[in-house]
Amino acid sequence: MNRVIAIDGPSGAGKSTIAKLLAQDLGYEYLDTGALYRAVALGLLHLGLNEETGDDELAAALEKIKVSFRMGRVFLNHKDVSQEIRSPEASHFASVFSARRLVRELLLDIQREALHHADLVAEGRDMTTVVFPYAYRKFYLDASVEERAERRTLEMKTKGYEVSREKICLDIIERDARDSGRDLAPLKIAEDAVLIDSTGMSVQDVFRKVLEIIRQDEQR
Ligand code: C5P
Repeated sequence: MNRVIAIDGPSGAGKSTIAKLLAQDLGYEYLDTGALYRAVALGLLHLGLNEETGDDELAAALEKIKVSFRMGRVFLNHKDVSQEIRSPEASHFASVFSARRLVRELLLDIQREALHHADLVAEGRDMTTVVFPYAYRKFYLDASVEERAERRTLEMKTKGYEVSREKICLDIIERDARDSGRDLAPLKIAEDAVLIDSTGMSVQDVFRKVLEIIRQDEQR
């Protein structure tokens, strides 16, 4: 059985950065599950769906959508959409559609299937609680809303989006509330996850801490 290190946390907590570094260091595959939810949302938007769409129409639309994640790139119906999924609109609708049972069921299988092919560092909102409850090691990464908004603003500006920190901060608060408050697979801290608050910590400090915890575990 392949191993999975599972990382959950809210938007902008540094999950992707740490997961990528860990995967590189350990020789594991990196699985960005937020990218899968974003790709599905993009596909649904292209088909004209929105918050109001009922389950029958959603099910029919999902039949037409194929998403996959390979070597850090995400594909929607075989087209590389790795850049497109980072838009503010995709962020918003990923959070909206991810609350729907049909969407979560579709992606559950795809995520678990990835573990058949490689050891994984998987990050998202329900890695430690629903998708990989038997994960070899579990982490919950957090940081203050202000710091997460600051990091996300820098990231979006680097990607060429015109964004204000205030707007990003409001988006983050709204997404946190939706992701934590939904009925299905809400974002929460698993009982057996190690909580790391990275407020004021450098990426290197967080990475060292996570690695230390994993290695301590291996020496037991
Ligand atoms: O992590 P990222 O910000 O890319 O995720 C986009 C959205 O996808 C999140 O706001 C969340 O609603 C949803 N998501 C989820 N479960 C996951 C990963 C992401 O519901 N495992």
